[in-house]
Amino acid sequence: MICEDQLVINKFVKEASKYTKLGEVADYIPALKTADPDTLSFAVFGETSSCLCAGDSNETFTLQSISKVITLALALMDNGVEKVFSKVGMEPTGDPFNSMIKLETHSPSKPLNPMINAGALAVSSMIKGENVDEKLSRLLRFVQDLAEDSTITFNDMVAQSEFDTANLNRSLCYFMKQHGVIDDDVNTLLEFYTKQCAIEVSCSQLAKIGFIIANEGKKLNSNEQLIPTHISKILKTFMVTCGMYNASGEFAIRVGIPAKSGVSGGIMVSVPNRIGIGIYGPALDERGNSIAGMHLLEALSNHYNLSIF
Ligand code: GLN
Repeated sequence: MICEDQLVINKFVKEASKYTKLGEVADYIPALKTADPDTLSFAVFGETSSCLCAGDSNETFTLQSISKVITLALALMDNGVEKVFSKVGMEPTGDPFNSMIKLETHSPSKPLNPMINAGALAVSSMIKGENVDEKLSRLLRFVQDLAEDSTITFNDMVAQSEFDTANLNRSLCYFMKQHGVIDDDVNTLLEFYTKQCAIEVSCSQLAKIGFIIANEGKKLNSNEQLIPTHISKILKTFMVTCGMYNASGEFAIRVGIPAKSGVSGGIMVSVPNRIGIGIYGPALDERGNSIAGMHLLEALSNHYNLSIF
């Protein structure tokens, strides 16, 4: 028997799918160009231990900017709140995610928040580990624990494709190195960052990670604390203020839920103390958010009264 919620979700996913035609897949990372723009998949996790899904919720895609939330959690667990925020700020920028402008116009020139590329690069430099392999295997283990799947890994082809073309991110790193925000060898940091962004998940796995952040860092029906509560609060706050790039204000008004998107077309959503949602729709709007995913979330938020405001 199909439950009522499944029917509601099927209907909203079908309606939102129409918007895929109005968006375009990201092409500045060459390997992302091959994604099918018509795709829209969805999974929700929480309340019961099974996922409600629509579309191909097992199809995998790379985390891209969604990894910024997870790396921030690990960096905060590794270094503490004070050290991390001595290198990166807490304010939204209103600029595109890869913009350099505020680094230059603000003094001191530390990145304004961890959800823009400059801030995420500074955060990645704080993950503990002797070398890229050690840092990456710690991060992968963390993602595997959150999603309860030890097979999760990164897509080497996507990572290499971004590494080969990441000149803007390289320039952000050099700027920050000049100003003492980071100390790393730039290409070593970029190798880690591009692999972090290329970690592959499905919507169902993303929904589980989103749920843990929603559930104050704990697994469903368990007291196992994978992320300390105070850190899960910080993550949700950044997801509200900066999670949807320079569309975060509009998203807060229209949808009103902590969420983080990536240019692969993924969106991870955490409805506090209720559910986690994973969405994959690679056709993007002009600000880099999944166009159908945004419409789907607005419909779901209105129907289920999910806004936190
Ligand atoms: N890896 C991408 C980049 O640095 C992530 C950006 C994004 O998802 N918005 O450009």
